[in-house]
Amino acid sequence: MTLLGDLVSLHQVDCQVRALRGRLDTAERHYATQERQRKDVAARIEEVRSQIRQHQATAANLEAEGGSVKMRIDQFRGQLNLATNPKQYAALLNELKTMQAQRDEFDGLALAQLQKSEELQGRLADLDTKVAERAAVCAAARREIETCRGEVGARLGELDRERTGASAKIPSRELDIFDRVADLYDGEAMAELVAVDAKRREYVCGACNMELPPDKYATLASNANVVVICTSCHRILYIPQVGNAVA
Ligand SMILES: [Zn+2]
Repeated sequence: MTLLGDLVSLHQVDCQVRALRGRLDTAERHYATQERQRKDVAARIEEVRSQIRQHQATAANLEAEGGSVKMRIDQFRGQLNLATNPKQYAALLNELKTMQAQRDEFDGLALAQLQKSEELQGRLADLDTKVAERAAVCAAARREIETCRGEVGARLGELDRERTGASAKIPSRELDIFDRVADLYDGEAMAELVAVDAKRREYVCGACNMELPPDKYATLASNANVVVICTSCHRILYIPQVGNAVA
């Protein structure tokens, strides 16, 4: 076979390898994205749980403080009756009121902490639902990777061997050009040289559609063992009817 015929064969198997790898890559990327989102939600849950624990601990401390003030109030009430004159009674009563206000303040603060904790419990329930959903999506994405590996794996091995065989037929200089352009265009290394109007010698590159000098056609038409590249996109040109280079 001619060099161009060999290049077209390599191009065909290279495209298949890239398509299969692409499917596996897509599945793996999808899983990675989902897993990252699941971990973000899980981290948020830990954060909210820790906030809830803090609010509950603060509430318990405030309740304890309020409780000890209440005990002092109860003890103090007994002393009111022991007051010997109205002035002393008024002073004791005043002190009692201060203590009651203090107790109310502790109770209020404890209640506020408990309310915050309850709000966070609500948010936690939402996050738990979300993380369960994410986990289900992740498991499905994981299964898709396994399915893909199963379906793609064996075929990819075969194609990789075919590709190695096809590239072994190409001289290293031409193979370098092919590999470079194939990587640049994600596998689209070859482009058909299209005759727009053969009489007027108008030719274009089938991939980028830019006009090509007529001598490129002349070279390729007479010799299928030479690499001719598009002036604009640098893809390797071929004429389907020449040199068995049938796509
Ligand atoms: Zn081109």
